[in-house]
Amino acid sequence: MTVAPGPTVVLGDRFATELPELAVRWRAEDAPAPRLLVLNDALAGELGLDPAQLRSEDGVRLLVGAAVPEGATPVAQVYAGHQFGGYSPRLGDGRALLLGELTGADGRLLDLHLKGAGRTPLARGGDGLAAVGPMLREYVISEAMHALGIPTTRSLAVVATGRGVRRETVLPGAVLARVASSHLRVGSFQYAAATGDLGLLRRLADHAISRHHPAAAEAEQPYLALYESVLQVQAELVAGWMLVGFVHGVMNTDNVTISGETIDYGPCAFLDVFDPASVYSSIDTAGRYAYGNQPIVAEWNLARLAEALLPLLAEEQEAAVAIATEALNTFRRRYSEAWVAGMRAKLGLPAGLDDTVATALIDDLQALMRENRVDLTTFFRRLGDAARGNAEPARLLVLDLAGFDAWLERWRAAGPDAAVMDRTNPVYIPRNHLVEQALSAATDDDLGPLQSLLEALARPFDERPGLERYAEPAPEAFGSYVTFCGT
Ligand code: AMP
Ligand code: MG
Repeated sequence: MTVAPGPTVVLGDRFATELPELAVRWRAEDAPAPRLLVLNDALAGELGLDPAQLRSEDGVRLLVGAAVPEGATPVAQVYAGHQFGGYSPRLGDGRALLLGELTGADGRLLDLHLKGAGRTPLARGGDGLAAVGPMLREYVISEAMHALGIPTTRSLAVVATGRGVRRETVLPGAVLARVASSHLRVGSFQYAAATGDLGLLRRLADHAISRHHPAAAEAEQPYLALYESVLQVQAELVAGWMLVGFVHGVMNTDNVTISGETIDYGPCAFLDVFDPASVYSSIDTAGRYAYGNQPIVAEWNLARLAEALLPLLAEEQEAAVAIATEALNTFRRRYSEAWVAGMRAKLGLPAGLDDTVATALIDDLQALMRENRVDLTTFFRRLGDAARGNAEPARLLVLDLAGFDAWLERWRAAGPDAAVMDRTNPVYIPRNHLVEQALSAATDDDLGPLQSLLEALARPFDERPGLERYAEPAPEAFGSYVTFCGT
């Protein structure tokens, strides 16, 4: 493995030095024939990286982990996690590496991380690899989420490795380079707590406070304040998902960040028809991570975080449990406030509108959407037309016209603001059929459809002529959609 001069990327090693118990020093497997498939020029710019340098041979070597900038200490991160409710004491990056931390324009640290970079000592039975399709999928969906205003890890690049990856068939391999405000997870705390090393747990909490929730350091009880901050960012995050119809699909505690960013786009999908029972993941047979269950599952995951933090909350276990329970009990209120605020914006409801009136409008609309099986994204966008006086496009989507007309009359009486609605309700989301088309073309070396899709998704609220097909629901022939984990 070489240390190449390459592009000037300065990477810190704060995680590796502050938390060595959670870091296994490791290097990426060599990529036989690296080829850049997609580079996020805008993100590179935000990070102070030169896109032209990243496109160079040395740049591409950096993006697959073959060249490590001087001074960097790549590590596989160790964490635990509850997967579908069952506890795994030692998971960790089986196929990923934290290359190190970039310093963003605001001085905050950002992880530069590779996924699909070869087996690590934490790979268990896995091959450490990733295929082009799923890495491009994470790229597309995470960038779409970002454009929708939902906190998420970002995608910097996908590089084809030239190595075949054995799945059901042999697929072309790839490495995703992603950027996150950190990769600390609920599972990181579970792992640290399980070691019984209170010093480690405290160091991890201090690291999290300093990187993500610095105000907690000033609080009377900083670790309680940390926990409350995570409750808040996760409540806002999951509300954001629910408002756009995002189904994460694998909300295991190792996929729940301390920063409040969406992470690990595996079997995720977007709703078309509004149905709380929607499940896309092939392995989620019980519907644990169904669309409508996500807020409850988030609360369950945050209870696991509370358990891990108990030794930091009070000396006596009983007192710690009481403190943690009281905090956790605020999650439903936090979630509800975030979700109602989002729904008020989606419906363009004026700020002065009475809460009882707003809540009744929101609840009744939810029931109508469910009963009429409307396409969530199209329906809200067309309500914007209705706010401008043209209700026909929305009426075309519902069967119960009498019920809908009655609701429309009440809603219009509240004086909805169409401009707010247009800024809140996207026209373009990564619809499952479009994502699949783009990925299958890319797997066959045609990146055109992917680029066009990325352009539409980069400005989701800005309706543009010529992009009509990106706004349409899946054709009937697309059928029901199934997604896969561990791809
Ligand atoms: P995920 O479903 O992507 O959150 O992954 C769950 C766990 O499985 C993590 O510890 C991953 O590092 C690991 N993992 C997933 N796919 C592979 C693979 N192909 N090789 C090694 N480890 C993997
Ligand atoms: Mg994961």
